[in-house]
Amino acid sequence: MDKVRTSCGALRAPDEGRRAELCGWINRRRDHGGLIFVDLRDRDGVTQIVFDPQNANFRDAEHLRHEDVLKVRGNVRRRPAGTENVRLATGEVEVAVAELEILNRSAVPPFQVNADDTVDENLRLEYRYLDLRRNRMQENLRVRHRIVKAMRDFFDAREFVEIETPMLIKSTPEGARDYLVPSRVHPGTFYALPQSPQMLKQILMVAGFGRYMQIARCMRDEDQRADRQPEFTQLDVEMSFCTEDDVLETMESCMRYVWKTVLGLELAAFPRLSHEEAIAKYGLDKPDLRFGLELSDAGFIFEDTEFVVFRSALEAGGAVVALRYPGGASLSRRDFDALTEAAREFGAKGMVWLALGSDGVKSSAAKFLSDANVVALRAAAGAETGDAILLFADPRPELAYAVAGKMRNEVGQRCGMRDPSQYAFCWVTGFPYLEVDEATGKPAPAHHPFTAPAHGQWDLIDTDPQKMRAQHYDMVLNGYELGSGSIRNHVAEFQRKVFKRLGLSDEQIEDRFGFFIEALTYGAPPHGGMALGVDRLVMLACGETSIRDVIAFPKNQAFRDVMMDAPSTVPEQSLRDLGLRIVTP
Ligand code: ASP
Repeated sequence: MDKVRTSCGALRAPDEGRRAELCGWINRRRDHGGLIFVDLRDRDGVTQIVFDPQNANFRDAEHLRHEDVLKVRGNVRRRPAGTENVRLATGEVEVAVAELEILNRSAVPPFQVNADDTVDENLRLEYRYLDLRRNRMQENLRVRHRIVKAMRDFFDAREFVEIETPMLIKSTPEGARDYLVPSRVHPGTFYALPQSPQMLKQILMVAGFGRYMQIARCMRDEDQRADRQPEFTQLDVEMSFCTEDDVLETMESCMRYVWKTVLGLELAAFPRLSHEEAIAKYGLDKPDLRFGLELSDAGFIFEDTEFVVFRSALEAGGAVVALRYPGGASLSRRDFDALTEAAREFGAKGMVWLALGSDGVKSSAAKFLSDANVVALRAAAGAETGDAILLFADPRPELAYAVAGKMRNEVGQRCGMRDPSQYAFCWVTGFPYLEVDEATGKPAPAHHPFTAPAHGQWDLIDTDPQKMRAQHYDMVLNGYELGSGSIRNHVAEFQRKVFKRLGLSDEQIEDRFGFFIEALTYGAPPHGGMALGVDRLVMLACGETSIRDVIAFPKNQAFRDVMMDAPSTVPEQSLRDLGLRIVTP
């Protein structure tokens, strides 16, 4: 007997006359003039099956419902002329059911599985198994699989070794809080879940592996943010005896390989921008390079201005930054008000706009702008009649640039310049070594404390640490930071110095990082690496806007797993076993 079992995506016109056996879920059911049509769905596709009234199973078929699970046998036949479905790969044929076996019944689903309707996300997540049956989610997780496989293949070909690092470890700082796991066998003590495998991958370099990679899970206890997950996946990489260029070349080639093998797209060489250049041109350290619209410094135009907002910003050492809005002269006052409101949300105190209409210039600060100002602004911003110019001033230049940078993305969006099917990668390099932590006011590493300073800048750590630059680089795609990396401190004494500069006492250094610094003393090779966020990368490759749509079982926006109901309380006895008591509920 020929093989009859086939998938729901396989049958085509030449299969006419064949016997086939299909298993799957009811995607759709229609009663039509005595015939019952069912679209049967499995992981591979959809096939139409038909029950006619002579069929012994017809009565059963009358009671079938969406998402019931069936096994059917029957003959493949051509659909009658004019009833073919060109949108379906199997659309030329149908299976006339001879035998029906109902493998399982389905409760009435809380939403339609067969439509990509906008369903409330919490409902989707609560019934994730139904949500995952949808085409789009099936496709996204398959793309994710192919991307991760391509990454592994790429690094395997370059002789990197994938090594698993443990989940139960000691705190690894990456700027977030640790998730803690109480130890039952050592009461009163805790493991930390890894914020990243950072110290372990460095220790693997001390151990002589030379080239490490891992598709690594990381956990960071951060405040809820729409685009974050408390646990996420990284492509984690580390190499010995390498320069910054080696790491950049490796990671860039990996992306090129992934895009080629999975999406069939050739990526151009990634432009490299220094951190300073990124801020000056785009206002942000993660510029969206799908479009130009470079910012310009307009401070020099307003040196003698009467306009106090600009004057006070400039006198305090701040900046006035100009952004061109192509075609913006046709915006209404209300549109400009809405933009000003958006600028406030981005952290600006306000925004000045100029509309360069063919009938003259209108502006929110008309009485302070001389003709000469307008001429100079047009030239500085590269604006033409028909455009608008938006101006942002602040005593803190970095804030004026940051707001202008966020507005640049907004303008890019409104002008249709952020096409999700276009991929603009770039590198940002040469970050400052330290930044001031907004919460504590103390110096904090811009990346993490394992990062090495720029060549020849070691002495600055004692004399002028704020001037130090780091051998720290970010990969950016379409305005998203995909990941960061750095060349590391491989000399124990330097590493200790960094911890001290960050305000840790000798005891704290010993307690938290003693094992790591000790490892460095046993001939640690120079090394460096980076990590890329797999969830974000897959999201962008799939043209999605939420990482939750490329993760099988994500937490919701409030960081809850609404399917399993986690986090949740535990039985009193479990707490007792751990020697824990809940003080505040
Ligand atoms: N551990 C870093 C991170 O998770 C990446 C790296 O420096 O390799 O961001």
